[in-house]
Amino acid sequence: SVGSGYNLNLIGYTPGYREKITSSHLLLLELQQALQNNELFIMLQPKVELLSQKPVGFEALVRWQKRDGNFIPPDVFIPLAETSGLIGSLDLHVLRSTFSAVQQLKAAGFDLPVSFNATVSDLKNRDYIQEIFNAIEGGQVNPQLLEIEVTESQAMADYRHFDKILRQFMDAGMGVSIDDFGTGYSSLSHITRLAATTLKIDRSFINGIENSEEDRHAVEMVAKIGQRFGYHIVAEGVETEAQNQWLQEVGCRIGQGYFFARPMTIDDAIAWLKSRP
Ligand code: C2E
Ligand code: MG
Ligand code: MG
Ligand code: MG
Repeated sequence: SVGSGYNLNLIGYTPGYREKITSSHLLLLELQQALQNNELFIMLQPKVELLSQKPVGFEALVRWQKRDGNFIPPDVFIPLAETSGLIGSLDLHVLRSTFSAVQQLKAAGFDLPVSFNATVSDLKNRDYIQEIFNAIEGGQVNPQLLEIEVTESQAMADYRHFDKILRQFMDAGMGVSIDDFGTGYSSLSHITRLAATTLKIDRSFINGIENSEEDRHAVEMVAKIGQRFGYHIVAEGVETEAQNQWLQEVGCRIGQGYFFARPMTIDDAIAWLKSRP
C-alpha cells in the first residue's frame, strides 16, 4: 500500500511543512480508498441557450463526499490524483458514469449531450481512449451525446499530440470543448483551426463583465472571433441576470452557471428537466 515505508520524520522540515505533507498524504490514502469503495460520483450542471433558457446539454463534474459528510472540492483532489497517478482510474470512473448518465437521461426521454473533463494524462492513456471508442463502436453511447472538455492551457502545452487525438473524437461525431478558454495560450493561428467544436469562456472573464471593461472586451472578442471560425461559444460561471443579458447582446448563445442551475445529482437533473415548460 501507499502507506507503508514512508518516514515523515525527516530532518529539516518545519512543523508546518510536515503537517502539510502529512495531510496531503492522508488525503491521498483516503482518495485511494474512496476510489476502491466507489465513493466518487458525478453531478450534472446544465448548459442552456441564453435566449430561451432551454437546456442544451450537461457537464459531468466529479464529487467526493467523505464518510464524515465533508465534500472535498475537485480543485483539491484532481491535482493530487494527477501527481499520484490515481487520475487514470478516477477519470475512467467518471467516463463510465457519464455514459450511464447519457443512458439515464435518454430513458427519461431527454436526448441531451453530456460532457466530461479530461486531463493530459487521460489523453496519453490508451485504456482511457479505448474506453471511449469501445463505448461508441459497441453502441453503448451515441457519440453525438458525448463531449470531451480539455482546458486550453493543457491542450496548448502539447498541441501536436492533442490535435491528433481531439480530431479523432470529432471525426467520431463527439463534441470537443476547449475549457477555461482565455487563460491558456492559443495563438491566432491555432484558433483558426482548433480540433474543437466549442470554446468555453473562462469564468474569470464572465465574473468581470459588470466591473471590468477589459473583461467585457475579452468576452466580446472571443464570442466574435470564435463564431467567425465556427465554434459554439459557451460562457461558464454565469451568476447574474446582468451577465446573462450582456452575453446575449454580444452574441454569446450558450451559458452555464449558478444563475441557471447548480450541479445536481442525475435524479435531480431529470426532475429539473421535467419541471421545465
Ligand atoms: P471546470 O471544468 O471549468 O468546471 C466548472 C467549475 O465551475 C465547476 O467547479 C462548477 O461547479 C463551477 N461553477 C459552475 N457554475 C458556476 C458559477 O456560476 N459560479 C462559480 N463560482 N462556479 C461555478 P468544480 O465542480 O468544483 O470543478 C472544478 C474543476 O475541477 C473543473 O473546472 C475541472 O477542471 C475539474 N474537474 C471537475 N470534475 C472533473 C473530472 O471528473 N475529471 C477531471 N479530470 N477534472 C474534473
Ligand atoms: Mg469543464
Ligand atoms: Mg471551465
Ligand atoms: Mg475550470
